Amino acid sequence: IEPETFRNAATTMIDYVIKYHKEIGNRQAFPDVEPGFMRDLLPSDAPKAGESWEDVYSDIERVVMRGMTHWNAPGFFAYFPTASSFPGLLADILCGGATCIGFSWAASPSCTEMETVMMDWLAKALDLPQCFIHGGHGPGGGVIQGTASESTLITLIAARSKVIRRELSRDPNLSMYDVLSRMVVYTSNCSHSSVEKAGLLAMIEVRKLDAGREGIVTGKTLQEAIDEDKKNNKIPTFVCATLGTTSCCSYDNVDEIGRICKCEIEDIWLHIDAAYAGAALICPEFRHIANGIQRATSFNFNPHKWLMVNFDCSALCSYLSNSANVDALYLEHETQQTTIDYRHWQIPLGRRYRSLKVWFVLRMVGIDGLQSHIRRGVAEAKYFESLVRKDERFEIVFPVTLGLVCLKLKLENVINEELNRKIQDDRRIHLVPSTVHGIYFLRVATGSVNCSRQALDNCWDVIREMA
Ligand code: PLP
Repeated sequence: IEPETFRNAATTMIDYVIKYHKEIGNRQAFPDVEPGFMRDLLPSDAPKAGESWEDVYSDIERVVMRGMTHWNAPGFFAYFPTASSFPGLLADILCGGATCIGFSWAASPSCTEMETVMMDWLAKALDLPQCFIHGGHGPGGGVIQGTASESTLITLIAARSKVIRRELSRDPNLSMYDVLSRMVVYTSNCSHSSVEKAGLLAMIEVRKLDAGREGIVTGKTLQEAIDEDKKNNKIPTFVCATLGTTSCCSYDNVDEIGRICKCEIEDIWLHIDAAYAGAALICPEFRHIANGIQRATSFNFNPHKWLMVNFDCSALCSYLSNSANVDALYLEHETQQTTIDYRHWQIPLGRRYRSLKVWFVLRMVGIDGLQSHIRRGVAEAKYFESLVRKDERFEIVFPVTLGLVCLKLKLENVINEELNRKIQDDRRIHLVPSTVHGIYFLRVATGSVNCSRQALDNCWDVIREMA
């Protein structure tokens, strides 16, 4: 289409997005559609001749919004919030508009260097250890991945390469598969499913450690598992500890776990998955949750969850170079010995200019604004907790430390499952349940851009009415 047509279309699209956000309070968080609904709304084949923007635009409500889960609707309390901000959106327009694929420094010096600086800005804003800062002490630094799942997988692959190299250098008669079959990954039985998936993809056994009623893995539990595995000639390779579990926002004891990983004769790679809770480290009063983080080999959090940077943006701090390097003549460039080529730090080759979103948000919102955003989310959770505690039929299942409230009726699981079903069928609010240590409970995640006291009052009214 012509630039002028684009200008007009873009203006209507931006007006639509502004109206969408302004009026999102009228939207039901979870849609009333059945699987397969889209087939009835779309023709069976792509149009042969191009259609007008007006035709496409007129289908946005009818087709797209019909089956949309509105993650930023005031009735949405499921999972963890997803970030949404106008500065983030502005950067996405530029990112799409400039269409750069910055896999190496030469493929886009701007994309590479902005990312390096933005990762340092983030690491400093969160007061992360120097080893995670480019140009700090040590070889590490940051890279932006699409998701926390990719961050876990790429760090596991880096740990795997390191162990394979080490074992083969000691005994050249071994094959890499001999080593692989002896490796073990340790993680909590409360950690995110993406850790199990990373093990599956990397073909390494994942040993799930008992996090107990509190949802916390301790050093003792890890040590016992390592000792047992070593007796069986296994190779403890990688530990994924979680700060802020998805189920209940519990925190593994990273201080104890880190000491064990460093005390083993062979260091064990300690990855910290702080996909949700990591953002809270921007506030000094929440930094205690990351005690012991200086012993981690890698640390990951998602600015796209709680730091106002629109999806996708997962910040990974570590030293990854050399584990996934492959070369081809067409990828070579003159400065590759001295510059970062982020293609070596991730799974795909191509990469978007994601750091633009971080830059726009950090400049336009500022650290003060982000701290207020986090504090508001925590205050909302505390407010909701106070509502629940006033009703003797309910109990709070886990301490409310950030923006997640876990609650249940003081009755057996089946009744709470029934309560959840009624809430889902009612549709005024959208929650997801979870279980820890055999206890079934509801989760209310606060902190999304449109969460408010009124939204929380409404949520509580619905839960009580259904109860
Ligand atoms: N880790 C934790 C603790 C999470 O809460 C989540 C998602 O909610 C993930 C990992 C997976 O995140 P992603 O979708 O970025 O892979």
